[in-house]
Amino acid sequence: MPKKTCYMCDLEATSKEHVPPLCIFPEYKDVGLNLRNNLIRVPSCDIHNLHKTKDDEYLLFVLISHFQNNEVCQQQILTKFIRALKRKPHLASLFLKEYRGAIVNGKKTIAYKVDDERFNKSIEHVAKGIFYSHFKQKWVYPFNVVSFAFYKIDDPDFNKYVQNGFIKILESFEKDKAIGANPQVFKYKIHRSYDPDICLILMTFYEGFHVIAASQKV
Ligand SMILES: [Zn+2]
Repeated sequence: MPKKTCYMCDLEATSKEHVPPLCIFPEYKDVGLNLRNNLIRVPSCDIHNLHKTKDDEYLLFVLISHFQNNEVCQQQILTKFIRALKRKPHLASLFLKEYRGAIVNGKKTIAYKVDDERFNKSIEHVAKGIFYSHFKQKWVYPFNVVSFAFYKIDDPDFNKYVQNGFIKILESFEKDKAIGANPQVFKYKIHRSYDPDICLILMTFYEGFHVIAASQKV
């Protein structure tokens, strides 16, 4: 039998990688709920698993800092995230690039510049992992990532445009079933049935952070 290869590349798989990364899923001791049921794992090489811990941390940081997330996410911030900051105080300055005060829903908070390239790369990993676990085959083409959780602080027109676009895309996913054993943390919808050359994945983290990954065979 041929050796199993990595979900991202053709190297031999040496471990199993969680999709999305395990750190996204809160621990029982922090939230009092079991939110690590039947996590998705895919075969991975060393490069695509062990070497991306820092990117996983950044992904977690961006995801949990969104203001429309649920209660589970708030708990994750108050427990795990605060612990991580106490352990590695430099994380905050590493992640919080170019931040400033902002008012959201009448509350004072901060807005910061997201490293989209880094965030999108992580989401692309998740998209490829989902595809692999869903269809038992690899999707080798690059994904474009669009997040509907990102706002431009001084450009309401842009935000409106993004939100309207998102509503249209959500409608196109209406008939697809949401999949995920821990929907309070993560769920996805996938379709490519109407055109096998296109793959569209809608991911929702903490019931509030929506991201679309789209790819087309080239
Ligand atoms: Zn690999």
